[in-house]
Amino acid sequence: MEKITGIPASLGFISGKALLYFENIFPEIPRTDVLPEHAPDEVRRLDNAIRDAGAELAVIHERAVQEASKEQADIFSAHLLMLNDPIFRDQLLERFRESFVSIEWVVWDVAREMMQKMMSSPDPLFRERAADINDVSKRLLQHLLSIKRSSLAEVEEDVIVVAHDLLPSEILTMNRRRVKGIVMDAGSRTSHTAILARAFNIPAVVGLAHGTKIIKDGDTLIVNGRTGEVLVNPGKQDLANFKKTATVYHKQMEEFQSLRELPAETLDGGRVMMNANIEIPEEAERVLQYGAEGIGLYRSEFLFLTPGRSAEEEQQYRSYTKVLTAMGVRPVTIRTVDIGGDKILPDFQSGDEKNPLLGWRAIRFSLALPELFKTQLRAILRASVSGNAKIMFPLVSGIEEIEQALVLLEEARSECRSAGQPFAEHIEVGIMIEVPSAAVTADILAERADFFSVGTNDLVQYSLAVDRGNERISYLAQPTHPAVLRLLKHTIDSAHRRGIKAAMCGEMAGNPKCTALLLGLGLDEFSMAAQSIPPVKRIVRSVKMVDCRNLADAVLRGISWEQNGSLVDEWMMEHCPGETTV
Ligand code: PEP
Ligand code: MG
Repeated sequence: MEKITGIPASLGFISGKALLYFENIFPEIPRTDVLPEHAPDEVRRLDNAIRDAGAELAVIHERAVQEASKEQADIFSAHLLMLNDPIFRDQLLERFRESFVSIEWVVWDVAREMMQKMMSSPDPLFRERAADINDVSKRLLQHLLSIKRSSLAEVEEDVIVVAHDLLPSEILTMNRRRVKGIVMDAGSRTSHTAILARAFNIPAVVGLAHGTKIIKDGDTLIVNGRTGEVLVNPGKQDLANFKKTATVYHKQMEEFQSLRELPAETLDGGRVMMNANIEIPEEAERVLQYGAEGIGLYRSEFLFLTPGRSAEEEQQYRSYTKVLTAMGVRPVTIRTVDIGGDKILPDFQSGDEKNPLLGWRAIRFSLALPELFKTQLRAILRASVSGNAKIMFPLVSGIEEIEQALVLLEEARSECRSAGQPFAEHIEVGIMIEVPSAAVTADILAERADFFSVGTNDLVQYSLAVDRGNERISYLAQPTHPAVLRLLKHTIDSAHRRGIKAAMCGEMAGNPKCTALLLGLGLDEFSMAAQSIPPVKRIVRSVKMVDCRNLADAVLRGISWEQNGSLVDEWMMEHCPGETTV
């Protein structure tokens, strides 16, 4: 047995078989001349590959129908249609007869040409098709070149995925019924892969650095999403201990259910709001089971990031309506897309920026593409009649960006009016505070925003210069660093001076160790992964606001995150012992 420890990224305990996952890397495609007398062999090879790839796709499609979402099944049926389209085969054969080169080269060449044409089309539907062509041609090539394919969408048995890193799109498309746990070399608690693992309730440990070197395919693993421990090939005793711990954990989860209907109120009557963060519309119903009072952050960009699908206005409208309807009168804060950084949208971005986290991201991206931005704003406006929608702009760095975004929002409103599309008259429009310049000028920005929501994942990243996805320096990403706390205090105080609410939707809001400190700083609304609501709410209900203020005062005088961390720990031991062990 070997024990490796990483960063706990998504709660839960799981034991199972490891599936070592490496991104499919393609070898160079051979381009060899074919003698005319061998032409029929090449045509036969193509037909065999089409037949085998088709049979494979039919099985995958059937499984997706049974086990995955309709959306995933639709992707595979579109691939099947394309693969069996006689026009596609004719195109390949025509190119082959013109060139008499190996058929795999022809497949690659034709597919590349088709993709280029589709990508340069102004019609987003065509651009979507480029991703399908990419996938279908790769599948064909895998059969022609006898490459064993491994795709997380096609996992057939229960596994714990072990990877160096996973793209958000890979988590979005994997077979979530079969992937029972995730273990990664890269990443931190606030990386987007970790956020998605929590969204899907899949226990995960990230930042293991060498996990893929230590773990072998088929090894038995125990993953502890609370402590970050991964046991490789555990012995009998370890398995017995695991079962005991898992039972205690599940019991605790059941106990948390009793908190669902109770208010997030301190012993001396301080009331705050407990909201949930969501990434996909399907999560909305689940968050209510954890007692969410609303959605404080809907990361709408994940609608765009599902491979092969771009979010048209109608599709967006339906998704927002679904979430708003599920939440009834409860508020739903839809954040306009935060594309860029580690969430690249290949239709629009080449992914070759030198500093993507300081680059064309979030509100900068939306303001540069006003038509795309207005499409999203119209979809939100139209959906707003189905519930209590709020709009939030991400990564604002100064007042100009808010003003420009508000102008476009006004244009979107006029467009809806002209089209006779109703929308809610009053929609609160807020901003995320996640860039140090926004926090420092919060008093100025408060004049233009209906609310603030602090994104500590980015605020910590940018104020401490710590890449949130880099496991080597993740120990520096400390929200109790005096610099972060000063920014937080200034932000919350500025909001209150202007009479608007200060919320937080970064990971700090869901960290039970920080709950009392945030109460003391005056935070009004907490938004977090749904699974974190019960433990955080339990702390709120077991402390007094007056004590929390004293804690905040003491911590604000601290000189380092280490000192502040100890202060908070001691305070917790004294005021609510045992409460942070979730
Ligand atoms: C944040 O930065 O804290 C945040 C909530 O936004 P995201 O994690 O999506 O960047
Ligand atoms: Mg952010």
